[in-house]
Amino acid sequence: MFRSMLEAFKNLFKPVRTHPYPAEDIVLPSGYRGLIEYGIDACIFCDKCEKVCPPGAILFYQHESGEKEYRYNPWLCIYCGECVRACPKPEEALWQSEIKQRPAVVEDGANEGWFAWEEACKKSREEYAAAKKAAKTQNKSEE
Ligand code: SF4
Ligand code: SF4
Repeated sequence: MFRSMLEAFKNLFKPVRTHPYPAEDIVLPSGYRGLIEYGIDACIFCDKCEKVCPPGAILFYQHESGEKEYRYNPWLCIYCGECVRACPKPEEALWQSEIKQRPAVVEDGANEGWFAWEEACKKSREEYAAAKKAAKTQNKSEE
């Protein structure tokens, strides 16, 4: 007990070992894996990135027209790089930049609306699949 108290007291006068980020900026090490970036022109909308993302930080919304809309949540992302590894067009459609994210604790509204968006994406897929199925059935009955 006495030894641990003594150790704690001594530590009060030692230099701080941790970095007070985000109050003070940090120097990024080489090879730092930061925010995911997306290039819509190269994307083939295979959804592989969405499927492999552990926390669900990438979502595609399915529009009625057939187009898909990409969304990325940097506050959910754990920077694992799985999406980039799964992407058939790495460095063109998806890549891990050296841009660092500010912690969600200092951002107002981080994640706000994301879970509603997740529901909307799921619903849009279901509706799109149902509409395609209905159109197929109708085509068959007209043949
Ligand atoms: S880096 Fe990992 S957590 Fe971030 S979007 Fe890609 S797969 Fe998801
Ligand atoms: S894995 Fe790559 S090509 Fe496929 S949807 Fe994601 S970004 Fe687009």
